[in-house]
Amino acid sequence: MHYFQYKNSELYVEEIPVRHLAKKIGTPLYIYSYNTLVRHYKAYEKAFEAIPHIICFALKANSNSAILKLLSNQGCGADVVSGGELFKALNCGIPSDKIVYAGVGKTEEEIKFALKSKILMFNVESENELIEIDRIAGKMKTQAPIALRINPDIDPKTHPYISTGLKKHKFGIPIEKALDSYKLATQLKNIKIVGVHKHIGSQITEVAPYVDALKRILLLVDNLIKQDILIRYLDIGGGLGITYKEETPPLPSNLAKGILPLLSKHNLTLVLEPGRSIVGNAGILITKVLYLKESGEKNFIIVDAGMNDLIRPSIYGAYHEIIPIKEKAEDTIVADIVGPICESGDFLAKDRQIRKVKQGEYLAVMSAGAYGFTMSSNYNSRPKAAEVLVKDDKFAVIRKRESYKDLIKGEIIPDFL
Ligand SMILES: *Cc1c(COP(=O)(O)O)cnc(C)c1O
Repeated sequence: MHYFQYKNSELYVEEIPVRHLAKKIGTPLYIYSYNTLVRHYKAYEKAFEAIPHIICFALKANSNSAILKLLSNQGCGADVVSGGELFKALNCGIPSDKIVYAGVGKTEEEIKFALKSKILMFNVESENELIEIDRIAGKMKTQAPIALRINPDIDPKTHPYISTGLKKHKFGIPIEKALDSYKLATQLKNIKIVGVHKHIGSQITEVAPYVDALKRILLLVDNLIKQDILIRYLDIGGGLGITYKEETPPLPSNLAKGILPLLSKHNLTLVLEPGRSIVGNAGILITKVLYLKESGEKNFIIVDAGMNDLIRPSIYGAYHEIIPIKEKAEDTIVADIVGPICESGDFLAKDRQIRKVKQGEYLAVMSAGAYGFTMSSNYNSRPKAAEVLVKDDKFAVIRKRESYKDLIKGEIIPDFL
């Protein structure tokens, strides 16, 4: 974590002390490192430079417009899962021919928007969706470029809630049915088959599931070729893991080493949809210690960031390293680090060993750049946190902290009250 380091016992993001940002902008505060984002993006570009490829950043990991603009400037595309994400991607200058659109529940309005925008392809998740896209494209007198999302029935060996490529999951078309679904697609006049898609899960820490899934998908591609169904884009999804604790996930270069040899006989443009591995370790969440509390045997550190700001610990039992932004030689305690929300599930860490901290000190929740802010909510009527981007010795607020007024925006008290 090169750009998040202690210098003179103080945590810095690039060349700015975190304390400075926390004092100036307040907490809870998401801080992202520009240079980390660029490095992570370039690692993908470099790893796959030997073959035609498009890196489509998965917006659901982090969709702040400044981050999208940064990635767009680097040449990045987008993987979107809603009309709102498509809007955000286009709004930040991501070219429509680098945008792919997945999701099991695309609405008519969203499909129309994507057709009008001329995206690269729809990653279609069911035959009924295919039929619906054909109907809408027909009405609009256009053709819809599609890939079918194939469920290869591969276990990515990750948390069950972020695993997506097994038969029991709602995503994609089972691989045994794939050929039939492609044949159906050939009969739909307003559908243009351009690709195959798969995405087997998230926080994957081995290359093997990618290799196994790809082998299955390539058998399908060969079968399609035999039927004169030509595939141009092979979209292998995202899912590469990051280090939260002691994981040693493959780097993009390791992934490339594993899969590129399999692709040498095919004339395909590879599409990748990384989210977490680009942005996860490029962001941290800063929170202030509000109170210390002992209750029976337990120590609690009560902080001003709650599950509404970062929900991963609550819903996935996810581990985030938490460190005081000031390094000190001090005894450690074991404590639950909890938020202010009225739920027992509101915690950032359980039974965590941490040095003794004082009221008013700042803590950094590490690896919070992905599925952090995007999953945040206003639960307990808490304004959403501010976000800051740091580049070298410069910083910019890229999302203002919400105000109380923002909490009632759009709410209407009817006349009969
Ligand atoms: C969530 C998602 C991704 C990104 O996953 P990461 O684990 O963040 O890389 C990519 N593609 C699809 C279809 C997704 O749903």
